[in-house]
Amino acid sequence: METEKKIIGRCPLCGGNVVKTCKGYRCEHNIGEQPTCVLNINGIIGNRKMNDDEIAGLLANRSILLDGFVTKEGKSFPTVLELADDGAVNMQSVIGKCPHCGGDIRVGSRAFNCSNYANQAAPCSFAIWRNIGGHQLTLAEAKEICGKQITSAELEMYREDGSIYRKRLGLSPDKLQIVKI
Ligand SMILES: [Zn+2]
Ligand SMILES: [Zn+2]
Repeated sequence: METEKKIIGRCPLCGGNVVKTCKGYRCEHNIGEQPTCVLNINGIIGNRKMNDDEIAGLLANRSILLDGFVTKEGKSFPTVLELADDGAVNMQSVIGKCPHCGGDIRVGSRAFNCSNYANQAAPCSFAIWRNIGGHQLTLAEAKEICGKQITSAELEMYREDGSIYRKRLGLSPDKLQIVKI
């Protein structure tokens, strides 16, 4: 008789099922005497408990932007988790290059910020708010603004009276401001 297992998603390394275990999430081919896969994701990453939907997103997209990680000093921070080819889950706070100055764009609690904001020789104020018009920007959308200078899709946003409008987000000519197009 088959034992019942909770399948969370597909293993990006070998294509097998990833199942929920007592300690986290493990590829079905990384179970038993002769495992053929190495995927094993801890249920707690960066002092933060992971939920099933977040792991499913990480498996499907190989990366996921999440808030609520906690440093040893107790400070909360957001980061992008990336699933590497060797099955390791790495934190990556850099999501792209600044379209204005070429510096690194890092994810912060409220915005994606240029790492040159405090560079005394060449300060850069470029930032993308993570919430624009009530729309919570996804990692993919922020990467599109940095890389292609515009989102590929129109995003649903909201006015103060609750009415909905849809615009793409792009860059001003000086590539410093985010504009609705
Ligand atoms: Zn696998
Ligand atoms: Zn910059």
